[in-house]
Amino acid sequence: MKKSKEKEIKKKIIILQKEIEAAKIDYFQNDDPLLSDSEYDSLIKRYKEFKKEYPSLFSNYDKTLNVGTVALSSFNKVEHSKPLLSLANAFNSSDVKNFDESIKRFLGMDLSSDIEYVAEPKIDGLSLSIRYEKGNLILASTRGDGKIGEDVTHNAKTISEIPHYISSAPDILEVRGEVYILKSDFEKLNQYQQLQNQKTFANPRNAAAGSLRQLDSNITKKRPLKFFAYTLGEISNNPVDNQKDLIDLLKKYGFKTTQDFYLCKNFNELNRVYLNFNQIKANLDYDVDGLVYKVNDFKLQKRLGARSSSPRWAIAHKFKPLESFTKILSIEIQVGRTGTLSPVAKLEPVEIGGVIVSSATLHNEDFIKGFDNNGNKIRGGVDIRVGDLVSVYRAGDVIPKIKSVSLSERSINSKEYIFPKYCPDCGNEVKKEKNESSIRCHAGLSCKSQVIERLKHFVSKQAFSIEGFAEKQLLQLYDLDWIKSPTDIFYLETKHGHNSKIPLKNLDNWGEKSADNLFKAIEKSKKIPLNKFIFSLGIRYVGEVVASMLAKYYIEWDIFYDKMKNLSQKNNSALDELVNIDGIGLKSVHELKLFFSNKVSLEITLELPKLIEIEKYQQKNISSPISDMSLVFTGTLETMSRSEAKSIAENMGAKVSSTISSNTNLLISGISSGSKLNRARDKGIKVITENEWLELIKK
Ligand SMILES: [Zn+2]
Repeated sequence: MKKSKEKEIKKKIIILQKEIEAAKIDYFQNDDPLLSDSEYDSLIKRYKEFKKEYPSLFSNYDKTLNVGTVALSSFNKVEHSKPLLSLANAFNSSDVKNFDESIKRFLGMDLSSDIEYVAEPKIDGLSLSIRYEKGNLILASTRGDGKIGEDVTHNAKTISEIPHYISSAPDILEVRGEVYILKSDFEKLNQYQQLQNQKTFANPRNAAAGSLRQLDSNITKKRPLKFFAYTLGEISNNPVDNQKDLIDLLKKYGFKTTQDFYLCKNFNELNRVYLNFNQIKANLDYDVDGLVYKVNDFKLQKRLGARSSSPRWAIAHKFKPLESFTKILSIEIQVGRTGTLSPVAKLEPVEIGGVIVSSATLHNEDFIKGFDNNGNKIRGGVDIRVGDLVSVYRAGDVIPKIKSVSLSERSINSKEYIFPKYCPDCGNEVKKEKNESSIRCHAGLSCKSQVIERLKHFVSKQAFSIEGFAEKQLLQLYDLDWIKSPTDIFYLETKHGHNSKIPLKNLDNWGEKSADNLFKAIEKSKKIPLNKFIFSLGIRYVGEVVASMLAKYYIEWDIFYDKMKNLSQKNNSALDELVNIDGIGLKSVHELKLFFSNKVSLEITLELPKLIEIEKYQQKNISSPISDMSLVFTGTLETMSRSEAKSIAENMGAKVSSTISSNTNLLISGISSGSKLNRARDKGIKVITENEWLELIKK
C-alpha cells in the first residue's frame, strides 16, 4: 500500500475510533445516547470492515470494539422513593406559549391571566438524589432510568458542596440537583489527564458523569465536582409551599443553588429572561443547555400532576443548538419496522459541540426536495444533493439535522437526488401513503429489514427487554432461519439448547456462557405487563402511551384480543368502543384495525400468548366511589377544566370516555349539556351535576 493512502486510511480509522469512544461514553456513562442504535451500529460495522481489510494498521491493544466502559454494574441499584421525572422540551417561544396556555386550560384559568413561574438555568450535568434521615446523609443515587438509579453514596460524599449532616432537616429529606464541573476546571482536568497519559473528556458533562461514577472514590475525590440543589424528592414535613422559598430553604440547609433565578409573571416575562440569558450564558463558568420554567406554587404543581414521564408544570426551554458545516458523502435509505423508507445523509465527520457527527436524518423525499409535510417550501425550496456543503445542527441533543445548503459551493456537475422506486432491501415496489410524506415498502414480513426492525423492537427495553439480543445476533439467527418471527424466540432453547443437535453455543461469536445468558434473558422476559406486550407488537401509531391507554382500558389480553378481532366486522360495538376511548386517535384506530385483520399478525397474536404470561393491567389499588366506573363528562364545568376532571377521575381509578355507550356508569353534566344528556337519560344512566361531582371527589 502506498504511504499516502496508508496515511489517509489511518486518519479515517482514528476518526472512527474517536466517534465510537465518544458514543460509548454517551451510552454507558451518560443518561442520553446521542446516536441512535443504528447509527452506532453502522460505526461499528465500518470499523470492523477496516480492521478486517487493514489489520496491520491496528494495535494489538485496540479496545475500541469492547462493549461498555468500566463495570458500571458493580454499583448497587436503588429504587427511588419518588421517580425522577424528565422534562418536556420547548425549542422555540411558541412551544413555551403552548406550555403556558395548556397549564391555564388545565387549571380552568383565563388564557390572558397571569401565573407565577420561576426560570432557572438547566445545567448540563448529571442528576443526583441525596437522602437524609434525621439529618444524616445516608444515600446518594444517580437518576438511572428515573425509577431505579445507582448507589454512588461514597463518591457523592467526596463532593465538598454536599453536606454530610443537616442539623435543621426534617426526619426524611431528599434533595435533588445536578452534579457538574466548571468549564475552567474542565480545561485543567483535561490538561492533567493528558499529562498522566489518561483519557481526556469530550465535554464537562462527560467529565462529571465519568467522575461521579468511578468505582474508586479516591479518584472521584480528586475531581473538581460541584453540586447545585434545585428540588426535593421525598420529605417528611415540607415547610415551604413554592419553588422560590424552596431554593431559600435549600440554601439554609447548606446547599449551593443557582444565582440565576428569576420570578416571572407570565409568558412575556419568561421570554425576556430567555433572551437575556442567551446573551450572558457564554460568560458563565458552567454549561447550560436551556432554561427550566416551573409553576412556582406547589399547590398548583400538585393539581397539574404529571403525564407518563414528565410533569405538566415544568418545561425545559432549550437554547439554539450549535451547528457546523460539512459535506454530504452519500445518501442511504434505511427501511424501518413499518416499511418506511428513511433517507439518511452520510456526512464527512464533523464536530458539533464536542460530539463527532457523521450522519443526519433527511426525513423523507419531500424534505430532500425542499418541502415540508404540508408542501410548503423549506430552505428556500433548495433541494439536497450528494456532494453538497450543508450546515448541520443538533436539536435537543438528539439526531443531527440539516439546516441549510450552501448553493454557492454546489458543483455544476451535481445531480438531483432521485428517491428509489423499489425497496432497497427486498426490491418490492414502494408507495407513497395518502396524505402522508412517508414512502413505504408493503412487503411486510417478506422484507428482511422490516422483520429485523420488528424483532429489534420486540426485544427492546420498552417491550420484552431481552438483553444480549442486538441487531447483530438477530441478523445471524435470521440468516440461519432460526428466528423469523417473535414466536421463534421462545422456541430457541428447545431447538438449540446445549444438548440439541445444533446448539447455539457452537455458532460463531457464541459460547456456552453467552448462550446461557440469552436463554436466561428470554426466560425472564416471558412475564410481561399487558401494556408492554401491546407495544411490543410494533403496530404503527401504537407507541408506549397509546399501548398504556389500551391496557388501562381493556385490562386483560383476552378481552383486548377479542375486541380487536371484531374491529373489521360490520355493525360491531368494538369499533365504537375503541374510538370512544379518550386519547386514542383515529390513526391508531385505523392501524389497529389493519393489524388485527392481517392473517400473519393474527396468527402471531394467537400463538404468542400461549408461550408467555401476559400480566393483567395493574390497576392502582384505589378504592374510591368511582373506581372501576366508566365516566363521561358533558357540557362546561365551572370549577375545573375537562383535562383536570379527567386526570382526577383516572387517579381515582375510573375510566373516562368521550361518548355514551352501554358501558357508561355515570354522566357528569356541566352547563349547556346537549345530546349526551338526553342519550344518558334514555339509557337510564345515572347523571350528576358538577356540585355532586365535587362532593364525590372530596371523599
Ligand atoms: Zn422491502
